[in-house]
Amino acid sequence: MSVDTPIAGRMLVAGTWSTPRDDFPSRSPAHRDTVIGHFPNATAEESRTAVDAARTAFLSWRRTSRIQRAECFYSLAQLIARDTDALALLMARECGKNITECRAEVVEGLHMVQYVFATGRMPIGEIVASELPEKDACTRRKPWGVVAVITPWNFPFAVPLWMLGPSLLEGNTAVFKPSEDTPAVGQKLVELFVEAGFPAGTVNLLHGDGRVGEELVRNPGVNVVLFTGSYDVGRRIQELSASMPDRLVAAEMGGKSAVVVCEDARFDLAVTAGILSAFKTTGQRCVSAGRILVHESLFTRYCEAFVQTAKRLRFGDPLDAANFAGPVIHEGSIEKVLGYNQLARTEGADVLLNGDRTSETGCYLSPFVYRMEHQPGIRCLREEVFGPHLALIPFRDDDHGIAIHNDTEYGLSMAVITESYRRMRLYRDECDYGMGYVNLPCIGAEVHLPFGGVKKSGNGHPSAAGLIEAVTHKTSWTVNHGTEIRMAQGLTTTIVGDTA
Ligand code: NAD
Repeated sequence: MSVDTPIAGRMLVAGTWSTPRDDFPSRSPAHRDTVIGHFPNATAEESRTAVDAARTAFLSWRRTSRIQRAECFYSLAQLIARDTDALALLMARECGKNITECRAEVVEGLHMVQYVFATGRMPIGEIVASELPEKDACTRRKPWGVVAVITPWNFPFAVPLWMLGPSLLEGNTAVFKPSEDTPAVGQKLVELFVEAGFPAGTVNLLHGDGRVGEELVRNPGVNVVLFTGSYDVGRRIQELSASMPDRLVAAEMGGKSAVVVCEDARFDLAVTAGILSAFKTTGQRCVSAGRILVHESLFTRYCEAFVQTAKRLRFGDPLDAANFAGPVIHEGSIEKVLGYNQLARTEGADVLLNGDRTSETGCYLSPFVYRMEHQPGIRCLREEVFGPHLALIPFRDDDHGIAIHNDTEYGLSMAVITESYRRMRLYRDECDYGMGYVNLPCIGAEVHLPFGGVKKSGNGHPSAAGLIEAVTHKTSWTVNHGTEIRMAQGLTTTIVGDTA
């Protein structure tokens, strides 16, 4: 099929693909007239059927040996490796990220699948001692049951795999609802699961917007909700789940990350780290830096070098690997970013680069860069913008830098640029974050590390390798090899009347 032929959107429930329906289009943000495909909005009935299908499949999937489950991921890895270029192309067309970034994301998804396969033969618990020599005791992780996977558009391949991988390996089954902005990538991923031989009902696919997500969350048959997206939606999902005390919600949400450039920083490295943190993926990573804190002794020089470099960045066609980054995701995003640019002006920003819309046919924005002294309560320095919007903020000393760093309700990622190991340690221990970097940008992840944040950024169940804890619960199992019952703590086994 030509890449220009729109994809026929369909959903997967209990191993059967639905007839394609055209409820909403997926459009390329680079050319809003280009339709990537037409997709259905799942009905409430389809949502219930998908959860029921996952429940039924759970009964046999949890009986499958863990190693057999892991081997399905081995097959999946071969398919992702086979289709890497096609997947990257589809992703670049659908979400507008540069093709080089899309390829890296497919590789990250592949790494997650390889990690899951590799952990299939690793321990699932531990043997512990018992007070009594004839008893064996162990801990084991067990799957919860049905997992709902609700994901954002900006990492449409890797983020679902961070969640589906550990969930399915551990014996859970899943209902997956990709973002309505990237349904084609979500559907392609599920097609690969089917081709890899995952049994019917283990992975189910629903398309649609927030209403479909909410219907899924309201279903009490869902044991765990794995959510990645904005804070407002994450909070709503946690509120909806509050009446289900046996429900676990793992929510990875937004950020207002920062790079801190200390007085002893390597200057060129600090500029590169700042530019990549602020503008890679057009500032649309959860970990994108909205703030660069610069020691006052370097501030003027840093602002000049940063602006000169930012001016040279090329935001253009996602399929041209020579471009630095692409458009923002949709018209709503343009409106939001321009709104924050205007807010910054009214809050007293000294504007150095006047970010604006640069195309009528695509969702392109140029970078908005401003200088601002930190003061408490300034919204543009505290709230997530999720676009090319960057504040340069001077600080006096490390205590001041740490205080400014923590003056936001988010705590996702941070980077400190310094040559001093004492300073590095200070920032490591006193900043609020989930992922910290030294002499690097505050973006970039590897799947064997937990990916998550604190405060409004996450509720303590990090993704990728960190997710195994959330998709399983720990049990203990004790076996008596003796011929009589003896209890721990000297508890008597005498039954009334025995002594008579
Ligand atoms: P979003 O919150 O708008 O949507 C995320 C998903 O939630 C989508 O699938 C959407 O359909 C669904 N949804 C919306 N309303 C819902 C509801 N009421 N109930 C259930 N589901 C609902 O986010 P987005 O615009 O797709 O992605 C951008 C956001 O995601 C940013 O805030 C970014 O920081 C965050 N993000 C976080 C991480 C992380 O790991 N912390 C990673 C990537 C993106």
